[in-house]
Amino acid sequence: MIQLYIPLNFLGVIYREIKQSLADMERLFALLDQNREVADSAGATPLVTHGARVTFNHVGFSYEAKRQILFDVDFTIAAGTTTAVVGHSGSGKSTMSRLLFRFYDANAGAITIDGQDVRAVTQQSLRAAIGIVPQDTVLFNDTIEYNIAYGKPGASKADIVAAARAASIHDFIDSLPDGYATMVGERGLKLSGGEKQRVAIARTLLKDPVILIFDEATSALDSKAEQAIQAQLKEIAKNRTTLVIAHRLSTVADAQQILVLDHGRIVERGNHQMLLAANGLYAQMWERQQARPDEALASPAVALEQ
Ligand code: ATP
Repeated sequence: MIQLYIPLNFLGVIYREIKQSLADMERLFALLDQNREVADSAGATPLVTHGARVTFNHVGFSYEAKRQILFDVDFTIAAGTTTAVVGHSGSGKSTMSRLLFRFYDANAGAITIDGQDVRAVTQQSLRAAIGIVPQDTVLFNDTIEYNIAYGKPGASKADIVAAARAASIHDFIDSLPDGYATMVGERGLKLSGGEKQRVAIARTLLKDPVILIFDEATSALDSKAEQAIQAQLKEIAKNRTTLVIAHRLSTVADAQQILVLDHGRIVERGNHQMLLAANGLYAQMWERQQARPDEALASPAVALEQ
C-alpha cells in the first residue's frame, strides 16, 4: 500500500507543478492520459469547428473558494483573428488560456468555440483543435525529430522537415553531426530559448490546429531572435484563431483585439491605436515599455520592475 501510495503521491506533486505551466499541458495529458480536474460530460460529442470563433461569455473563475481570479470576463475572438491579453503579473492571463484548454472549468459563465460549450465536447477533440506555443518548451530526452513529430504522431519525415523549415530550424538541425537523430533535452544537446521555441513552432505547425495559444516568453530573447520568432508567429497565426498571452507590448501592436486585464477584470479593450488614443492603462504601459524596451511587463500600475 505504501509502495503504491508514494509513486501516486509523487505523480500528484508533478501534476500540480506542471499544471501551472502551459508548457507541459499537452505532455501531461499524454503522460497521465486523463485530467483529474475535469471529465467528459455524459453526452460529450466531438468539437466541430467552422473557423473557430472563441467566446468567453461572462466567465468567472477561482482556483480556491476564497479567492476569485477572473471576474465577468466577456469577449469574442472572431474566427481566424488574433486577440492579445496584456496585464500585470498575476492578473489572470494564463488562467484564461488554462480555461480555454479546459484544464479547469469556469465557475460562472461559459466558454464556447463556434457555439459549442467546451464542457459539452470531448476533451480529446478540444485538445486536438488547440495548439500551444508555450513560454518555455520542455523537450523530451529523445531525438529532435521525435520532439517535432510529437505534434502529430505518425507524421512522415517529409512533413517533419517541412515543419522545421517553416519554423526556420531546419538549417540548424541539418548542421548537427547527427541531424534529425540528434538527442536533445536534459541528457542531450541543450538548445537555446529561441531554438526551443522554434521546435515548439515546428511541432505546432505539424499539428495544424485551428486555435493557437501563444504564451510569450517572459525572459527576453535577444532582439534579433525575438523579431524572428514574432515574424514566424505571425505566419502561423494567419487564419487561425489566436490568443496571445503577451509580456511585451511590441508583440501585440498588430493584434485585431487587445484586452487589458487588471486584477482579473478586462478594464480596456480595442486595437493598439484605439488604446493609445484612450490614454489609459495601456497607453501608460506602452510609454513605459518604449522607455525600457527589453523589459517584460511586470505591472501596468507600478513601474516596470520584475
Ligand atoms: P504572469 O504574467 O506572471 O504569468 P498571469 O497574469 O498569467 O501572470 P495567472 O497565472 O493567470 O497570472 O495567475 C492569476 C492568479 O491566480 C495569481 O494570483 C496566481 O497566484 C493564482 N493562481 C494560479 N494558479 C493557481 C492555482 N493552481 N491555485 C491557486 N491559485 C493559483
